[in-house]
Amino acid sequence: MIRHRDIDQLQQLSQAPGKTLTVYLDIDQTNPANRKRQFETRLKDLLRQLRAEHPGDEELAATCADVEESIKRVDPSGKTLVMARHRSLGVTFRHVLRIPLPTGVYWRSGAFLRPLLEALDEHERFGVVLVDAKRARLLTIFMGEIEEHKDLIAPSQPAPPSPASDKILSKARVERRQMEGLASHARTVATEMARLLDQLEVDRLIIGGAVEAAAELSRALPKRLRGRLVEVLPIPLTSSPEEILARTTEVQARLERAAELETVRDLLKEVRKGGRGVAGLPATLAAINQGRVWKLIYRQGLTLDGGFCAACGALAPSADSNCPLCGEPLEPEQRMVDRMSSLVLEHGGHVEAIDGPAAEALAQISDVAAILHA
Ligand SMILES: [Zn+2]
Repeated sequence: MIRHRDIDQLQQLSQAPGKTLTVYLDIDQTNPANRKRQFETRLKDLLRQLRAEHPGDEELAATCADVEESIKRVDPSGKTLVMARHRSLGVTFRHVLRIPLPTGVYWRSGAFLRPLLEALDEHERFGVVLVDAKRARLLTIFMGEIEEHKDLIAPSQPAPPSPASDKILSKARVERRQMEGLASHARTVATEMARLLDQLEVDRLIIGGAVEAAAELSRALPKRLRGRLVEVLPIPLTSSPEEILARTTEVQARLERAAELETVRDLLKEVRKGGRGVAGLPATLAAINQGRVWKLIYRQGLTLDGGFCAACGALAPSADSNCPLCGEPLEPEQRMVDRMSSLVLEHGGHVEAIDGPAAEALAQISDVAAILHA
């Protein structure tokens, strides 16, 4: 899990004098194109292009060599590799994230942290509480990683020894006592949990465990937590963190799909009324070149060819013409989507790759579109 000290190291890099090479690389092993360490080849291609844009930059050439060496030791156990290398400081930051971020390489003074910081900021932190009549467990999930917090105290009050007269108590009365025990346990867990969830800055809550105890806990939640409750799921109390992560991933994916659909609906509305939306490659590229894109939206997995101007950095739908901005000849670019993402990010915009129903909705007009700055 990415920690505060990682961020501190990155912040240091972002303020270091001289240039830093920052790399975001798709290493997702569910994508066949990345298997057999082919992501290393892709990185080499990207760095070759970058060097071509900075001819004669010895510092860049040496830094690229360091990074190409360093990636050999990367275990591709996630979706995105983030690397930042500052040669004269001798500092290399290397981290594998479990979330996808747009691929890109950046050579500039200060590490290019915006995509990472934004992901840290935008991703919701999920809390998962599993309860039964006596115990409770608390886990948090953030950017695809799960962590258990051992500090959720669930004091269980042992039932008082049954007096002999209990034997003649009606079954209903015994059941009522058990329910009262469950309710008081739920209240204790709810109070303790609320304190911890605030401390951990949890945005969304999932409750699981034994069905009755979970239902009782969801009723005992303080009001401000009730709004964050997403779902009560029958996850067994003894599940491993990996099993819990798998169960909650479905819930998260559903929430993400809904949010993506909302984004595309907004976009379609803007495009139809000729407002802040553009669709299709030519219009989107024109908006990117002008630095007007607030959010670039494309279908996940989309690949596009196009043209790139080495002189001014502008992009064009094909390399057949001259640069729309400066008139210089264009170079062919096979990784247009990466180029577009990087340029939007560098101009302070956002990038969203969408999937599923949202991508189908987007397909009504194009594979690629953008919402413009107001
Ligand atoms: Zn140009």
